[in-house]
Amino acid sequence: MSKPVKYDVVVVGAGNAALCAAISAKEKGAQVLVLEKGPKHKRGGNSFFTDGAIRFAYNDLEDIRKLIPDLSDEEAEKIVMPSYKTEDYYDDLMTVTNGKTTPELAGHLVDNSYTTISWMQELGVEFVLNYDNQSFEKDGMFHFWGGLPVKTKNIGMGLMDTLFTRAKESGIDIWYEACAKQLVTYNGQISSIMVDKDGQSVQVPTSNVILACGSFEADKKMRGKEIGKEWEEAIVRGTEFNTGDGLEMAIAIGAQKHGEWSGCHSIGTDYNAPKVGDYTKPGDIFKKHSYPLSIMVNKEGERFVDEGADFRNYTYAKYGREILKQPGHIAYQIYDQQVRPMLRKEYDLTEATCYHAETLEALVSQLPVNKERFLQTIAEYNDAVQEGNYNPTIKDNKDTKGITPPKSNWSLKIEQAPFYAYPVTCGITFSFGGLHVNTNGEVLNKNTDPIPGLYAAGEMVGGIFYENYPGGSGLMSGAVFGKTAGESAAGRVQKETNILS
Ligand SMILES: Cc1cc2nc3c(=O)[nH]c(=O)nc-3n(C[C@H](O)[C@H](O)[C@H](O)COP(=O)(O)OP(=O)(O)OC[C@H]3O[C@@H](n4cnc5c(N)ncnc54)[C@H](O)[C@@H]3O)c2cc1C
Repeated sequence: MSKPVKYDVVVVGAGNAALCAAISAKEKGAQVLVLEKGPKHKRGGNSFFTDGAIRFAYNDLEDIRKLIPDLSDEEAEKIVMPSYKTEDYYDDLMTVTNGKTTPELAGHLVDNSYTTISWMQELGVEFVLNYDNQSFEKDGMFHFWGGLPVKTKNIGMGLMDTLFTRAKESGIDIWYEACAKQLVTYNGQISSIMVDKDGQSVQVPTSNVILACGSFEADKKMRGKEIGKEWEEAIVRGTEFNTGDGLEMAIAIGAQKHGEWSGCHSIGTDYNAPKVGDYTKPGDIFKKHSYPLSIMVNKEGERFVDEGADFRNYTYAKYGREILKQPGHIAYQIYDQQVRPMLRKEYDLTEATCYHAETLEALVSQLPVNKERFLQTIAEYNDAVQEGNYNPTIKDNKDTKGITPPKSNWSLKIEQAPFYAYPVTCGITFSFGGLHVNTNGEVLNKNTDPIPGLYAAGEMVGGIFYENYPGGSGLMSGAVFGKTAGESAAGRVQKETNILS
């Protein structure tokens, strides 16, 4: 094999963060190579599997219309769009992480969110309003809530298609089935990267590496070691390739770990979802997010959380973890016919595993559970349901009395046939363990000084998300820190060129 040419910047990974980094470095004049571990038909990382929900700060509907230019005046007149300022975004990050997010990184993310999404739009990424999940209709008007009104057109697939097209048009080289293995330094600076490609070990000379190759969520062993033994059994909702390679490579040359290595984002997902994300069935199709209207019962026939403690946005991440703790890592969401028409779209998909029957006894007879206790739990719950106005659009306080755990809202007796059971388990979205990075995207060493030539972006940036994250921030963080890292790396190339010339 001939000696590989030197690249100004090598980007590891081909998800959203990586391609934003590659494109921004290229825009600033650098020669860029992208290394992707997976084959071409499995490219795009976790970013490919997303719903495309992307969170950014904006002042008003006019800011949104700049991103969605074909939103007509007629449509706009029917929209109520509360502002979502940088302070709101920052406060949300602080709230969901219990104040643990690293202030300067959170600040960098929120302050650059609008300029970055505008830049993505200039690259050709198309956006649409997220009516389904983030608005409700009242008197003919659509009221948006939650600071997450926009998603990418054709979800994560659309986002990644556009970024790959743009990368190709800009002349960025991409090697598939090219697994980055080791960072090589000379005098403490990046000098090359070792890559496994076509069964050979190849050394690619470069002074700048941007690591954007995910965290370790797809590595069973690392999950067990860092997050906890039971996490070995979690389903991986996205790419199979994020196995902590970039973290290990960086730590091996002295990078500082940062963030919640024992934490991750997870949800309740269909028990029969594929063990790792299936590229032929992209989109977030296996989640089961209507559980606040259900009761969830484990194999032993016991309830284990207050299903109606709050709206889904505030409980889904922690309830994924609770399901993992149950015997056999399984629970059943139980509904009756009164509630079934109100369930989210994912319950209607052919991929949804569903048991149903005309009586509760017939339903439970199909489940591998403690049948007697299961039926008793449903009966106890039914007896505990209090009178009140049932209203799933607000926290209706229609609760239970005398059972543990209680159900604080949306409690309806399970009494109208047919009856339904949806088995769920825990799916990991991504792990929070990352590297210490500054607001230039530079990776810091144990003395908190930059390692010359090493940058990181996306899931690899530690310290932003702890315990939970505000939905839509994963893609935004990848884009902001990717763009930043690309600019910084290209800036360094420029400086070196100036010194040499
Ligand atoms: C089902 C699902 C739905 C989600 N929905 C949303 C959503 O709607 N909005 C949101 O903001 N976030 C969402 N997320 C989270 C979001 O996907 C991540 O936060 C974000 O996409 C991470 O981007 P990234 O570029 O850092 O990593 P990725 O997109 O995962 O890219 C990492 C890339 O690195 C490659 N790689 C790994 N190791 C190597 C190596 N050694 N050499 C070369 N390449 C390597 C991988 O193959 C992969 O292509 C969702 C996640 C999942 C799984």
